[in-house]
Amino acid sequence: KPFRIAIVGRPNVGKSTLFNTLSKTRKALVERSPGVTRDRVYAQAEIADRKVTLIDTGGLLPGDEDQFAREIFAQAKKALKEADLILFVVDGQAGITPVDEELASFLHKLEKPVIVLVNKLDGPRLDQVLSDFYALGFDEVVGISAKHKRNLDELEEVMAKYL
Ligand code: GDP
Ligand code: MG
Repeated sequence: KPFRIAIVGRPNVGKSTLFNTLSKTRKALVERSPGVTRDRVYAQAEIADRKVTLIDTGGLLPGDEDQFAREIFAQAKKALKEADLILFVVDGQAGITPVDEELASFLHKLEKPVIVLVNKLDGPRLDQVLSDFYALGFDEVVGISAKHKRNLDELEEVMAKYL
């Protein structure tokens, strides 16, 4: 069985951008409006010389009664169930939101390895916020910019520990 890495997080944090960057494809739909990636999207990728399957998901929105949000939450839950490693993407420019906190407690219950990816750290000035995200309760916190391909080497190193 291939090693499966699920990319989850609330809408618009940059999951699909990261998926496209890591898989070197343009499979995922990147949009300014939240919640665009409805279904799970799979891609094969090579990380630290290992073949892995990346799974992009729609944004997780726990507790949202809207039908569309419920559907993407269900898809993301399936992806989490089949994942060996979880990349929990948050927005470094927005800070921790209540939805991030809800997601964090949901992910803690899964007892699977989780890397918190603080995305949108486009320049060194933004790196100061990184330590704030340890409050989510996970040991691995990595700051990146998926859009500007910043710090992806460190991300690969941290992922390699779990492959
Ligand atoms: P998703 O809903 O989590 O899949 O997020 P998307 O990948 O669709 O990205 C949402 C928006 O955030 C898009 O406008 C992206 O261009 C933007 N974005 C993604 N990564 C970064 C980043 O590292 N820095 C900045 N500034 N914007 C980003
Ligand atoms: Mg997306």
